[in-house]
Amino acid sequence: MTARLIDLGADLTRYTRVYLSPHLDDAALSCGGAIAAAPGRTLVITLCTAPPPPGAIFSAVALEFHAEWGLAPDEALHVRWAEDAAAMAILGVDYVYAGWLDAIYRLPDVYCSRAMLYRPPVPDDPVLPQARNLLRMLIECAPHATVYAPLGVGNHVDHLAVFEATVACPPDRIAFYDDVNYALTPGAVEQRLAAIGKTLVAELVPFGTTALRTKIAAIAAYRSQMAALFGGTAAMEAAISAYHATLAQDRGGYAERIWRIM
Ligand SMILES: [Zn+2]
Repeated sequence: MTARLIDLGADLTRYTRVYLSPHLDDAALSCGGAIAAAPGRTLVITLCTAPPPPGAIFSAVALEFHAEWGLAPDEALHVRWAEDAAAMAILGVDYVYAGWLDAIYRLPDVYCSRAMLYRPPVPDDPVLPQARNLLRMLIECAPHATVYAPLGVGNHVDHLAVFEATVACPPDRIAFYDDVNYALTPGAVEQRLAAIGKTLVAELVPFGTTALRTKIAAIAAYRSQMAALFGGTAAMEAAISAYHATLAQDRGGYAERIWRIM
């Protein structure tokens, strides 16, 4: 399989699975096993991919993230695009960059601290209409695809905005994935399900050792994120392997989990 960077004006009718990735890493982290097990007719759309505007003033939390990633503000997105291109090549899928601004660059005065970043979007957040328009377009222009969106575990504002737009779509066209790495925290998924307050039914997506190795290689491509997310690549490998083995339980092998609305 080869990976192609396409744009949203392309013919989307060939895709049967569309994964919405709020940031440059979420699809690989959360769904890399399912994608690696069957990469055909799959599209990953990463949403917050735009560099900060020239002359942008960075909030304290943005500066903290840049420091954690070990990247200067003006190089952060360029490095992360290259990491993502490598991950998509490993997974062997087509991908799109929607070119939205990350919350830390979009509304730096509002999403100015971790407390403000891990909460529902403010009503005038421009990402809300952007997400609604994208979902409307996908439901129409990718008629054979299931759209996979973050469940919103961990409450990152960008994940919650995508969840809100997706949950308004026809239930037979959508599914939600456990947001890794937030879902690795015991009780985090249950807490999010309670907050959603809808009946969501879990479905396991099993995969084998080869897909697990591919998923781990794809995640490892996001080198700037490894320290902040897992404390390093070896720790990531251990955490990801254990999490997906635990989800598979006595069936053996590995599994990711998705949720559907009943
Ligand atoms: Zn994310």
